[in-house]
Amino acid sequence: MLRFRLLQVSERLTGEDRSCNLILPRRGVPVGADAGLGEGDVSLLRRQKAVEAEIVGVPAASPGHPSEQPCSEPGCQATERVSCDYRDRRGAPCPTSWCPDHVVKVNSWHLCRRHARVVQALAPVEFRGQLPPPDLGNRAPSLASYLAEALDSRMRAALTALCRTTSGESVAAEALTLVTNQDRSRRWAQGWKLFDNTGPLLRIDVEVDEARDPECAFRLNSRVILRCVPPWIQDRKAAVPPVEGGEDATLRQAFYDGLMEQHVWPALVAEEHWMRRWERSPSAAS
Ligand SMILES: [Zn+2]
Ligand SMILES: [Zn+2]
Repeated sequence: MLRFRLLQVSERLTGEDRSCNLILPRRGVPVGADAGLGEGDVSLLRRQKAVEAEIVGVPAASPGHPSEQPCSEPGCQATERVSCDYRDRRGAPCPTSWCPDHVVKVNSWHLCRRHARVVQALAPVEFRGQLPPPDLGNRAPSLASYLAEALDSRMRAALTALCRTTSGESVAAEALTLVTNQDRSRRWAQGWKLFDNTGPLLRIDVEVDEARDPECAFRLNSRVILRCVPPWIQDRKAAVPPVEGGEDATLRQAFYDGLMEQHVWPALVAEEHWMRRWERSPSAAS
């Protein structure tokens, strides 16, 4: 649990600014009069020191835990490996090991790619409520977060195209959240909204239900408009040989473009018309 408390602390420290919510205070910063700083600087440093005290047990520059296993990247023969530091809510450790080239470092932790994404995506969730770290094999939060990141600019552009800024409307992205279904199963959702001061007009989420992983769903104003399994996951299941790096990226972009053009955008436009059905069209003469 320690590492999740740590994320919570750094989130609190940096407030709204998600871009730096994983940056921790540096060690060895001189404090108070020794530093020869003004009062404002001193209080900032004191605050940093207080945070540092809460992360005892997690060295700022941990070298990681050496592992005897080979690097989990297929074909990698590197001689130095560390194990993934992730522990789930039952304390079970991630079984993967990584060399310096393939490990992902988040703060002082050494993580596999999936758990690096889980840890980063969960930081805001952890701040809002005490959520136990997902089970080791649970791909739902990392897949939802991955898709949301990949679709972010397209979703923002689509909502911005429907946004009436002159009427006080804005577009915003929201952090990954955990939603409990009526049957007590859980789904992970991350989304975007078009809203004004009365609340959201359009809200679209990309979701992965733990019981339906790797299927993802797109939910527009509480209604699911599309369910699909990302093609690269279908291919992996069908043991289709992976395509080369550049080609794979191109195929994924084509998938996102098709998703937006054929499904998301038409649904957004229809929903926007419906939501605004009582409003006078901005172009209509009075
Ligand atoms: Zn490696
Ligand atoms: Zn891991």
